[in-house]
Amino acid sequence: MNIKISMSSPDLTDADRQAVIDVINTPILSMGKHTPAFEKTFCDLTGAKHAISVNSGTAGLHLCVRAAGIGAGDLVITTPFSFVASTNVLLFENAVPVFVDIDPRTGNINPELVADAARNIEKYLPRNTQHATRSTLKALLPVDVFGQPADMDAINTIAQERGLTVIEDSCEALGATYKGRQAGTLGDFGVFAFYPNKQITTGEGGVIITDDDKAADFMRALRNQGRAPGDTWLQHTHLGYNYRIDEMSAALGASQMVRLEELLSKREQVAAWYESRLSEIAGVEVPFVESNTTRMSWFVYVIRFDKKINRDEIAKRLETRGVPVRPYFLPIHLQPYMVEKFGYREGDFPVTEDLGRRGLAVPFSGVMTEEQVDTVCNILHEEMKRQ
Ligand SMILES: *Cc1c(COP(=O)(O)O)cnc(C)c1O
Repeated sequence: MNIKISMSSPDLTDADRQAVIDVINTPILSMGKHTPAFEKTFCDLTGAKHAISVNSGTAGLHLCVRAAGIGAGDLVITTPFSFVASTNVLLFENAVPVFVDIDPRTGNINPELVADAARNIEKYLPRNTQHATRSTLKALLPVDVFGQPADMDAINTIAQERGLTVIEDSCEALGATYKGRQAGTLGDFGVFAFYPNKQITTGEGGVIITDDDKAADFMRALRNQGRAPGDTWLQHTHLGYNYRIDEMSAALGASQMVRLEELLSKREQVAAWYESRLSEIAGVEVPFVESNTTRMSWFVYVIRFDKKINRDEIAKRLETRGVPVRPYFLPIHLQPYMVEKFGYREGDFPVTEDLGRRGLAVPFSGVMTEEQVDTVCNILHEEMKRQ
């Protein structure tokens, strides 16, 4: 039986597709009017002063790192329970990610550990950098994991005490709210991402939001090969990149943003179906939404198995039966290049590793039907009973 359920899926209408076609029917495929129009939708949604679109979430995070003045040897406290990009952007600038462990319920960075690390940074340095001298703690880089904002008030308090920049990786949390405030607005910089499994998609793309005028100008210059305002096409004030989003992507994004509320509520509905079905299955825990999360923006649906259950065995059997699943996350500190560079070992971040071993993302998107959710849950239930 081929049940044809995909891991994730974009949610596109004819109007979304038409928006792209309309652009390709013009000669202006980059640096046209759709880029600023797309950006404006983020200022409207979040109230941020500036929105800077780029061609990936990773590019957006990288520009924030540059704008924060984070450079070689600088220390940034961040989480090992994330998609690798949140750490990689620090490595691009030869900065040193200082990992602290996470809250076991939400998977978000643990603010008490952030506070302790800010006070006693030497204790938290990676093994292979312990002799690094004169390193300065520059920034905090929390991640809104799976669409749930990190405890940003606690994190901002630490940042204010120590004069640190806060980069909020909201790439998984567009539209989420924390104590009523929009994800992405909670630090000095926020970044969203639009790969096809995200809440809205542009194919590839990202947006940075900030209230900082100078940083916004600098990031706009950096995404455009370092051209500052007033530079001609072949004048480059800064070392920059080509991180521009193209007009087709921006037009698609703007069309998707019109539907943001619909896209988010459909995902909410699918999450609710999962929650009600999965609550009946022994040995499976559903995602925890904490009270500070006044709106969860469902990105993926990650269940957790009891410690006694062999997650990988269940995952294999689900795949065999046509249900795609994915362990979420494989901890960043245990990725081969991180082990090689910093000397991390298993056991360094026990909570991250525990969630990494027990978590499994099941098929999830706003276009899933109730029947598909039922099918996934029934197959999961059968395989659990067979354990
Ligand atoms: C998706 C994502 C990004 C950015 O991904 P891109 O593929 O570069 O757009 C960054 N951080 C996290 C946590 C993400 O989930």
